[in-house]
Amino acid sequence: MRVAVLGSGPVGQTAALLLARWGVPVVLVDEHEVRDPVGSKAICQQRDTLDVWASLGAGCLAEEGLTWTTARTFHRAAELFSLKLPDGGSALPPFVNLSQSRVEEALDELIERQPLIDVRRGHRVRGLTQPGRVVVECETADGPRRIEADYAIACAGARGDTVRRALGQHLDGVSFRDLFLICDIRADLPGWAAERRFYFDPPWNPGRQVLIHPCPGSRFRIDWQVPEDYDLAAEESGGAMEARIRAIIGSAPYEVLWRSVYRFHTRLVPRMRVGRVLLAGDCAHLVAPFGARGLNSGVADAENAAWKLAAVLRGDAGEELLESYHTERHAAAVENAAVTTATMDFLVPQDEEQHRRRLDVLTRAAHDPAACEQVDSGRLAEPFWYVDSPLTTPDPTRPFAGRPPRGAVPPPGPGVLLPDVTVPSGRLRDLARQGFLLLTTPGVRAEGLRSARIPVGGALGARPGEAWLVRPDAYVAEVLRVGDQRAHLVRGVRGVTRVVDDVRDRADATE
Ligand SMILES: Cc1cc2nc3c(=O)[nH]c(=O)nc-3n(C[C@H](O)[C@H](O)[C@H](O)COP(=O)(O)OP(=O)(O)OC[C@H]3O[C@@H](n4cnc5c(N)ncnc54)[C@H](O)[C@@H]3O)c2cc1C
Repeated sequence: MRVAVLGSGPVGQTAALLLARWGVPVVLVDEHEVRDPVGSKAICQQRDTLDVWASLGAGCLAEEGLTWTTARTFHRAAELFSLKLPDGGSALPPFVNLSQSRVEEALDELIERQPLIDVRRGHRVRGLTQPGRVVVECETADGPRRIEADYAIACAGARGDTVRRALGQHLDGVSFRDLFLICDIRADLPGWAAERRFYFDPPWNPGRQVLIHPCPGSRFRIDWQVPEDYDLAAEESGGAMEARIRAIIGSAPYEVLWRSVYRFHTRLVPRMRVGRVLLAGDCAHLVAPFGARGLNSGVADAENAAWKLAAVLRGDAGEELLESYHTERHAAAVENAAVTTATMDFLVPQDEEQHRRRLDVLTRAAHDPAACEQVDSGRLAEPFWYVDSPLTTPDPTRPFAGRPPRGAVPPPGPGVLLPDVTVPSGRLRDLARQGFLLLTTPGVRAEGLRSARIPVGGALGARPGEAWLVRPDAYVAEVLRVGDQRAHLVRGVRGVTRVVDDVRDRADATE
């Protein structure tokens, strides 16, 4: 086998399907004989994640998901503010709510139809070595099994300690004190179906918060922050759980579909590439779910890993390209950790000073729009910007302005994901996902490389005489100009190999 994907959660499934789309044979390993479809787990699926799944043939997920457009925030009994999610000019909604279980089911259907993916369930990885190739030792009901592959992607999730240990990795970071009770109910709640509600210190959960998300099929996800010593069994048997739900939904009939208690963490492995193995998803990083940066960032890991492994296996790039997986995705994980830790400091203050600040911000937000900006119930997932990557050539005329305002994306340029715009042949990102692509403006000739003409001054803000080099994950690598020192790339490129080689050479030069 060429690539072993270890763990068939949504990140492993996505990675396997992406590799197969690049023509790479995959063995997809999971310890469980069957999938456990219970519970919704991740529900907020971000637009660019939906886009990746759509590119694999799971466009149904964006359609099935519940599109919510309004985020309402309350403090005690009063509403502080309400935000509309911008549509961003894309064919896809900014977010849909759809259970992770349904996502996994849809991806399994695609995997079943993909002859390049060999699924091995009931295989528990218990060891991994890299004597030239990757050798994975598994336990199965029929005894030990060994799987050999050229490379591996470790997607064994938060509980994948065995896999991390075999790679000399561990999840460094912090765990938060308070617990979170998460419950899916089915109920008819008119007016609640298109909005997310966040309650700080509501009278029915004083000093803590409650988050309510609508899901398809009249389902709602309710998430209560609860104290460290919270006892779910005692609460259920004593009727307190019923009172909790009634305090929110009133007398409407309801049915509990799933409930569970979680502790949240900010944790990250030191290395996301260990030799021939790339770590992805929760196996590499854990964040609190406020902002929905867990699964969404895991899918971005999978896409980054897949095109790079495919390029190396095709002989289009040397193994050094894999190091950029660590550089880019570790930086994304650090950003996600910073954003979600700031949110958790606001939601679960760690000391008196943080408590005072939270109360002050929430009190002022009732009448001061500037204070509303400081109310942190989670900065929603967004694609990371690879502006500092060795694969990105900065453009001094398009300096990166840093983390954009909430809900906004950085303007198009090197290191930034292409906007989701349509071109005469379809969607620009679909074109990009077929391999390296050069987008040219009139007057620019490109030989050898697959290219497409772009209208000047369109959604990209491209200027006459420019050519935009786009990676197979639809990120812009470089903006070239006729006549400048780098223009040789435009003229000299004879194929993808050459582009990847050039990119790699620059990566080496900066080390
Ligand atoms: C309550 C909650 C709400 C969340 N909400 C969101 C949200 O709205 N949006 C979002 O983006 N994220 C959210 N997340 C995070 C999201 O659920 C995770 O990021 C996601 O499940 C990670 O997927 P994964 O494939 O990396 O890992 P997992 O889903 O954990 O899959 C890992 C797989 O590896 C297998 N495995 C483990 N060890 C081994 C082994 N030794 N051998 C073989 N197989 C093994 C397991 O069986 C499993 O199938 C939420 C998480 C929680 C807990």
